[in-house]
Amino acid sequence: MIKANDPTRKSWVEVPADSDFPIQNLPFGVFRTESNPAPRLCTAIGDNVVDLAVLNYMDLLDDVELDNEIYSNRYLNDLMALGKPKVRQLRDRLADLLDATNDEAKDLAWHFLHPMDKVEMLLPIQIGDYTDFYSSIEHAMNVGSMFRPDNPLLPNWKHLPVGYHGRASSIVVSGTPVHRPSGQTLPKDAEQPVFGPTKLMDFELEMAFVVGKPNAMGSPVSIADAEEHIFGLMLFNDWSARDIQSWEYVPLGPFLAKNFASTASPWVVTLDALEPFRVAGPVQEPAVLPYLQSQGEKNYDLHLEVEIQAENGANAVVCRSNFKYMYWNMVQQLAHHTVNGCNMNIGDLCASGTISGKSPDSYGSMLELTWRGTKPLKLSDGSERKFINDGDTVVMRGWGERNGVRIGFGVASGKVV
Ligand code: CA
Repeated sequence: MIKANDPTRKSWVEVPADSDFPIQNLPFGVFRTESNPAPRLCTAIGDNVVDLAVLNYMDLLDDVELDNEIYSNRYLNDLMALGKPKVRQLRDRLADLLDATNDEAKDLAWHFLHPMDKVEMLLPIQIGDYTDFYSSIEHAMNVGSMFRPDNPLLPNWKHLPVGYHGRASSIVVSGTPVHRPSGQTLPKDAEQPVFGPTKLMDFELEMAFVVGKPNAMGSPVSIADAEEHIFGLMLFNDWSARDIQSWEYVPLGPFLAKNFASTASPWVVTLDALEPFRVAGPVQEPAVLPYLQSQGEKNYDLHLEVEIQAENGANAVVCRSNFKYMYWNMVQQLAHHTVNGCNMNIGDLCASGTISGKSPDSYGSMLELTWRGTKPLKLSDGSERKFINDGDTVVMRGWGERNGVRIGFGVASGKVV
């Protein structure tokens, strides 16, 4: 077992029972404070952010033997480049420093602990390229059956993880407002398109993995090696304008309906911390080609939910889903992405595609939840939503729970303005 994951560990820092950040999580992020606006690396414990640059400055991370500059970087990319064994060593050391049986750092806590609500979290990854998959069979069936009732799944779907290249420049950290996009749409029964703000603003509940190890152009990542290349996961909202999408997507797929904004959670939870939540994925029938055959448990049992919060205080959790439903897992996605020799770089991001389950309350988008607006949802004040209104905040949460330990991702939240 990875030392930091020991479920019997307790921290000297108070961790509320429903916290996403017990001592067994120790995700990585980048933050700054009002008194010190220089970005630096951090981890989370309970309701606090732990300043890794200060811990290092106080010689408490000496055993890990990293360059001092690593801790005051703007992004996690250089840390990830050191490789999993080194990062594992750092995470183990952080667990020891925060462990209730160790008082090395306890009396110095005021130097490096900051209440989470008093800091600014920054986008933690310098994202080079971003790819979005379409790997939930329930989502693909739902969307397919709306647009092609007789033929919901296209012939390639069960043979390869379908995806498209998205845009990295418009990925923003949780808390960043999202502007309702304008674009071309084709009104019902019209022959000419019109221009204006989207009327069908939607979210897509997704998880995204961060590539932490590159592969050279021409050298595919084998499915057996793929896990070594995945550093960790973030929550991800792939905002979508459905009316723009349905007019523009033929024949080359999503374009301006998707690239105006995507929201990521500020914390990268390491694949190491997610070890306890491994589960087998759905049976793949027909059998996939050999380069896509993964061994062992490659899905993760992570609860996911989406809440809509209106400006007047009304709210509702509109979706409860789970990452374990994915038909195509992450190692299959990465093996497929590189099988043609495509080189992936440190900091590349691959999102899962909308994560829907079988039951109607587990659908991961308003398109599916309201079935294209035909079944509006109700918020706590009785008001209805077919899609997302201006002023609404969409909040995504994700966590796993095992052996009395809850490992979470924080939130990916964005207000539509
Ligand atoms: Ca998507």
